[in-house]
Amino acid sequence: MNAQPKLPYAPDSLAPFISERTVSLHYGKHTKAYFDTTQSLIEGTEYQDMPLDDIVRNSSGILFNNASQAWNHVFYFFTFDPEGAREPEGAFRRKIEETFDSVENLKETMKEAGKSLFGSGWVWLSADSRGKLIITQGKNAESPLTEGLTPLLTIDVWEHAYYLDYENRRADYIDAQWNVIDWAIVGQRYNNLFENL
Ligand code: MN
Repeated sequence: MNAQPKLPYAPDSLAPFISERTVSLHYGKHTKAYFDTTQSLIEGTEYQDMPLDDIVRNSSGILFNNASQAWNHVFYFFTFDPEGAREPEGAFRRKIEETFDSVENLKETMKEAGKSLFGSGWVWLSADSRGKLIITQGKNAESPLTEGLTPLLTIDVWEHAYYLDYENRRADYIDAQWNVIDWAIVGQRYNNLFENL
């Protein structure tokens, strides 16, 4: 697997929605620890030369937990752009409106999924192999990759993602995500589905 990639934006550039301290701790410490542990677990095993997403699809137990958390965090942090598009566009927007009635309703549905997830986990917007959009909750390190889905967007609802900035207010943290999520990146992930058919 590849090393943990460097973020394409400055750690203070998502503030005030996600603080520099949270980005530094969450990506620099939590995510790094998942990468370091995965690396130490795969050394000298059949997983050694596997891409990270294949490790996630083919492992279980402690290796799955760490590899999946490494993958999930890179996916999460690489959806942000302080200068990004704040609205989905084109065919992807029409698909959202057809599925959820409106972009607002998609956001509300993801927020409700995040609020009602008990304990630690992730809220996902994914597409199935036919391009149908689906929102799911994942506990702990669970991943849509193991369900045969293509992840498009995720919100980390582990407490470490929001406690420094929002204390116990998980819903406020989820609302704030929409100020830093780049819909052009999410839309590109959706469009890639059809290029790969
Ligand atoms: Mn996290």
